[in-house]
Amino acid sequence: MVYMFQLVCLTCGQICGDISVANCPHDGGVLDLRYDSDEFPLQPQLPGIWRYASQLPLTDAKHIVSLGEGDTPLLKSAQLGSDIGLPRLYFKNEGLNPTGSYKDRIASVGITYLRQLGRGAWAATSSGNAGASLAAYGARAAVDGYLFTLERAPRAKIAQILAYGPRVMSVKRLGYDPVAEQATWANIAALCAANEWLMLITARSNSPHAMEGAKTIAYEVSQQMQGEAPDVVYVPVGGGGLLSSIWKGFKEWRRAGKIARLPRMVAVQPMGCDPITQAWGASRPVEPLEDCSSAVSGIILTSPPDGDLVLGDLRESEGWALSIADEVTYAAQAELASCEGLFVEPAAAVVWAAVKADLLSGRLKGDETVVGILTGIGFKDGAALQKMTDDKPLPMIEAGEILHISPS
Ligand SMILES: [Zn+2]
Repeated sequence: MVYMFQLVCLTCGQICGDISVANCPHDGGVLDLRYDSDEFPLQPQLPGIWRYASQLPLTDAKHIVSLGEGDTPLLKSAQLGSDIGLPRLYFKNEGLNPTGSYKDRIASVGITYLRQLGRGAWAATSSGNAGASLAAYGARAAVDGYLFTLERAPRAKIAQILAYGPRVMSVKRLGYDPVAEQATWANIAALCAANEWLMLITARSNSPHAMEGAKTIAYEVSQQMQGEAPDVVYVPVGGGGLLSSIWKGFKEWRRAGKIARLPRMVAVQPMGCDPITQAWGASRPVEPLEDCSSAVSGIILTSPPDGDLVLGDLRESEGWALSIADEVTYAAQAELASCEGLFVEPAAAVVWAAVKADLLSGRLKGDETVVGILTGIGFKDGAALQKMTDDKPLPMIEAGEILHISPS
């Protein structure tokens, strides 16, 4: 079989001949997917993100598992941007993917890759969004799934996963205890090796092939801006794989000659669980945190698997990292809904809070073109939704009272 891509170790630079491995067999380094050609022949006849198949790890189109992921809208801010003096603010609404988050791009590539390798099942950890995506694409491909969720994962996210039918287990202390986190990952890897399953963790350091799906966000943003790259891109960061993949996508798009320059990348983390922001501020590698005091599900990882990749990407792109307090995030979530019509989960709302903070502090001047990646839809986190709307009045009235309503 001829592959149009290679796995190259980012540590030692060696090419890895076995496309089924997750890490470099020599030193455990992160594997980077490189393609035979920098050209981008689009394949519009293929579904979803597979129109970019020439830059995805596909061996035969018959393996493609798609639910129509990608091609999400890039919306110019209707009000919030001009309110703060940033007229060229855009939001990439990833909540419009088939299961409500950008993770569908990753699951589409991951489950397709699983079929290419002839594996019988997938296994993963997730706080919810990746689990829902893998479960949906796994159901579509009729393969079994085993999902190990965080102890504090939101109930609404778990309910969505259960609906697709995989085996779901909640792991004690997973999500706020680095020891439980590392033991879980090591044991899932061993379980997968014993059964010839595919481990799909949404991190470049664990599933470099599946993560290629996330870089298509950069391709789409560049296309939607008519070949102009944004000046700054704000990305919610938990594990770090999304930011790192989007940065890779922009670099590939430029190498193909489709944009003239690259954006600066900004990592946005939740205060109280921000090991990457802390490392960035102290100019040192990422160190796991002892505990996590943020409740912003989806981006609370004490030991981010792609944390050091993100630090490298921020340096390379001349970007930065910042953290947002949970209460500020919830306020940002409410503003996006009431001022922009964008109903997103708190993990997505951090980007708007961060843009505002950077404009107030002077880090943004106001003349930049800024894109915020809104990673998931508001239905994902029922508790946060409740919190956002708890103080809204909902009076019970008689039909006759309708005539007495005066315009507000
Ligand atoms: Zn290596």
